[in-house]
Amino acid sequence: MTGIVFNIQRFSLHDGTGIRTVVFLKGCPLRCPWCANPESQRREPETAWSAAKCIGCGDCLRTGAGAVKREGGRVVPLRRLSGAEAERLCPAQALQVFGEERSAADIIDIVERDMIFYENSEGGLTLSGGEPLTQPAFTAALLREAQGRHIHTAMETGGLADYQDLRAAARHLDQLIYDIKIFDSRRHQEQTGAGNQAILENFRRLMDEFPRLPTLARTPVIPGVNDHEKEISDIIDFIRPYPNVSYELLPYHRLGAPKYEALGRAYPLGKRALDAGRFRRLQIFAERRMAR
Ligand code: SF4
Repeated sequence: MTGIVFNIQRFSLHDGTGIRTVVFLKGCPLRCPWCANPESQRREPETAWSAAKCIGCGDCLRTGAGAVKREGGRVVPLRRLSGAEAERLCPAQALQVFGEERSAADIIDIVERDMIFYENSEGGLTLSGGEPLTQPAFTAALLREAQGRHIHTAMETGGLADYQDLRAAARHLDQLIYDIKIFDSRRHQEQTGAGNQAILENFRRLMDEFPRLPTLARTPVIPGVNDHEKEISDIIDFIRPYPNVSYELLPYHRLGAPKYEALGRAYPLGKRALDAGRFRRLQIFAERRMAR
């Protein structure tokens, strides 16, 4: 069983309990303009070019034999490059390929190397993306393989998937992290490109079917999109009936902006910034409403 993975991040402390290895799968059905991982959105591998790293030597143009061209001050790939080819073409590592086909067994071999850290911290494997459920068979295979080796499993999902795929993954999960970004479906459609009826319905069905699955619902707080109490209270009122669900707000950040540029795309949110005081007030509001 193989799938397309664009990153494996060891020693993560923010994607589930304890110390974790996060495996990022490529492909997502949503197009959130605040996405910090634009390289995750398309399913197929992509080549990025970093203006900050490029030293302008022109080696890629000379030795690439039609692999890349210069266009408007950028180096642009003319065909799909492999990671090894990008490395060979560019001495400055300005060319980078996001996305590589990997086998489930190979990935779990890498994850297993940090077993000692998981055991001491209740950590393990987290699948992220993108949306892991755009590769449902690969996701299920990774989780099954990890569980078979007694590795704690978690998955971050946006919930827009076939329910049976979500259910198949949940059978091998020790923790679920479920993003609910905007409660109103029309506004969700405007902002992310898809309505959220299926996301909410999948959540409801899953919580009914797996009432003991530890679940963290999360909302990224985006200035001008959902940074107000009405939005947060609608989401909390939806999740609060489920005792296995906790809730967290994530602050918007712009750390993904250089990656948009490297992929030749404009950063969709411009100079927007999150007011730290406003975010803290929303956190306090959420904590109080969850505790009611
Ligand atoms: S080889 Fe790398 S550093 Fe040199 S011009 Fe090409 S992209 Fe830039």
